[in-house]
Amino acid sequence: MIIALYPGSFDPITNGHIDIATRASKLFDKIVIGIFATPGKNVMFSLEERVQLAKDAMSHLPNVEVIPYSNITVELAREVGAQVLVRGLRMIGDFEWEFEMAMMNQMLSPGLETVCFMASQEYQFLSASLIKEVASLGGDIHSLVPENVARALERKDVTGK
Ligand code: ADP
Repeated sequence: MIIALYPGSFDPITNGHIDIATRASKLFDKIVIGIFATPGKNVMFSLEERVQLAKDAMSHLPNVEVIPYSNITVELAREVGAQVLVRGLRMIGDFEWEFEMAMMNQMLSPGLETVCFMASQEYQFLSASLIKEVASLGGDIHSLVPENVARALERKDVTGK
């Protein structure tokens, strides 16, 4: 049984992330989406919110699980029994960072393989930070995020919480 861990901040989960998790779920027996508690960037959604949004968005796929984590990714991989780390690669900007991370994780945990999925064409220019910016300015992001995330972004915009 091959278990793959898909780690990230998912602030919030977008159709680009969902596309990667869905494609990975067809290749591996189980996907664990690991949501990192304290990414080194400002988050809009709390850890609990990010986990709930991702759970609701992935509930149709029985072999995808969503969990929060706050330790180092390779340690979480060991805890959940993952042999593979899944990442997504957009054409511009992702490669260098993903390569660095993959080399570091290989050093920290030999045998844990990083598998990168090429982002689908329609999501190449989609990032969670752009979604947050567009949504906060009142732009229509409905084609880029699941319905529950669109509603959560609208609520943030109104209440600021
Ligand atoms: P990070 O916090 O490392 O930027 P994210 O939580 O934003 O990570 O995303 C997790 C993973 O999903 C990363 O590998 C990132 O490259 C990938 N990803 C983000 N957006 C997209 C997208 N639109 N299409 C494909 N992969 C994506």
